[in-house]
Amino acid sequence: MADYDVIVIGAGVGGLTAGSICARRGRRVLVLEQSDIIGGCCSTYERDGYHFDVGASIVEEIQPIEMAFETLGTTFQQEVDLIPCDPMMEFVLPGGERITYPVSVEGTGEVISRYSPEDGRNWLKFAEYFKGLTEIAMKGFFVNPASSLTDMARIMVKTPGLLKYASLFTKSYQDIVTKYFKSEEIQSTMSYQSLYVGLPPELTAGLYATIPYSEHEGIWYPRGGMIQIPAAFKRVGEKYGMEVRTDTLVKKVTVEGRRARGVVLDDGTEITSDLVISDINAKTLYLDMVGEEHLPWLARYGIKSYGYSKSVTMLYLGVDYEPPLAAHHGVVAYPLRHINDFWRNNVEKGVLPEQTIGLICWPTHEDPSLAPEGHHILSIIPECFYHLKGTDWDREKKPFIEKTIEDLSRNAVPGLADHVKFVDCATPLDFERRLLLPEGAIYDLQQDLASTIMFRPSARSRSIKGLYLAGNSTHPGGGVPLVVASGLICADLIEKYE
Ligand SMILES: Cc1cc2nc3c(=O)[nH]c(=O)nc-3n(C[C@H](O)[C@H](O)[C@H](O)COP(=O)(O)OP(=O)(O)OC[C@H]3O[C@@H](n4cnc5c(N)ncnc54)[C@H](O)[C@@H]3O)c2cc1C
Repeated sequence: MADYDVIVIGAGVGGLTAGSICARRGRRVLVLEQSDIIGGCCSTYERDGYHFDVGASIVEEIQPIEMAFETLGTTFQQEVDLIPCDPMMEFVLPGGERITYPVSVEGTGEVISRYSPEDGRNWLKFAEYFKGLTEIAMKGFFVNPASSLTDMARIMVKTPGLLKYASLFTKSYQDIVTKYFKSEEIQSTMSYQSLYVGLPPELTAGLYATIPYSEHEGIWYPRGGMIQIPAAFKRVGEKYGMEVRTDTLVKKVTVEGRRARGVVLDDGTEITSDLVISDINAKTLYLDMVGEEHLPWLARYGIKSYGYSKSVTMLYLGVDYEPPLAAHHGVVAYPLRHINDFWRNNVEKGVLPEQTIGLICWPTHEDPSLAPEGHHILSIIPECFYHLKGTDWDREKKPFIEKTIEDLSRNAVPGLADHVKFVDCATPLDFERRLLLPEGAIYDLQQDLASTIMFRPSARSRSIKGLYLAGNSTHPGGGVPLVVASGLICADLIEKYE
């Protein structure tokens, strides 16, 4: 008899969701995590009394997370104390002008109308259009397998309204934003979000133009930090017998005659199981852990063809003043064309930009307990990339931290440089080393149309029986609620086929 029914590689949110649901359904589950803490990119660590989130800084579109906890016999709200974040976002424009949007769609329309009454009216149409898509996606598209044409046909039958949005697959994010909004300032507030997906507005699929709307369905911060979400899955899973081991690196998936039989750890220990769930980068899984020799030629070719997704640098700052900001999330925003230029002139050429474009997260705005009294935390995510021309991140880290703090002090966060008491930083290279994310890819694989939905690696492996995927690398892609959806899909497929 195998040691376990299911082994999960990686205690990220995707792996813990799938593992805890399998445990609830009576399987003996072991989760193996190489790091000393759980949660992967959705985690929190403590230094000098400051509690910093490793990566993810808020959750929105929480329906899949609610569904997962209901499947586990509880509720998200019962397991995690969710603090609503309102205002939704503050945008700092190049001249220093600030635009703050509340969560309310109508309230946001009023703010936009001050810049352009026409854009204000169009915002309401934009919001109504994407509200419909969000509802449909949450019922069908995000929470069902989408690995084949048959899967897609099933989704269409379940949610025929999706057809109304077919044109979003042929248009770009930029096409949609410029259709609805004419003011340069308002376009700036709608464009940055394409970089959440990992591409500039001209290269991002129109489908993702839903993000500037979806944030208005509400964004939340878990009291105690983002780690509370994976910790809740772990806690509930353990109630059903799930075991989680940290500091345990998986080196190989054992394969016999095209069937997964367990894993081999870094120290050579072999653990057997009938089923293996991977929550790690699918390229690493198939090429390094399963091994090319076990893959049919088409699968070998297919998996090699995926590009890695975007990477970022993250600064974790402890400060001894209340930063002059208006919201949990702030964006140093630029006009739409500037973001496309950033892609062409900086990302593609490996040249760091002169000015910071990026996100400012202020968790102590919602939860003061994350910092010593009178202090605050700021997590800064300047848009960055892994490959630097003629240099590397170990050399650039220190000057980059100093330049970013100076740059933000001048415009977005006045006084910052004088109040920083603690600095930590994760460059793309650090994300690669700490979380084993190749090239620091925060969503594992690129999220262009050619790598999404049925073109993303399948949740039920087509090449290796008994091997399942959850997390960023499979449908529906990156983002905490979406990887939870992938965990649900993975556990349901196991129930159906095993
Ligand atoms: C800077 C940043 C900001 C983000 N902001 C947001 C946000 O605000 N909202 C949002 O919804 N999403 C956000 N995201 C995305 C979100 O965090 C991720 O999509 C999600 O957490 C990924 O979960 P996962 O389970 O797929 O994988 P991961 O979080 O990558 O977890 C995989 C786990 O596997 C472990 N592992 C890897 N290799 C092995 C091995 N060989 N053996 C054992 N264990 C292994 C890793 O240590 C890791 O813990 C952000 C991500 C980053 C990095």
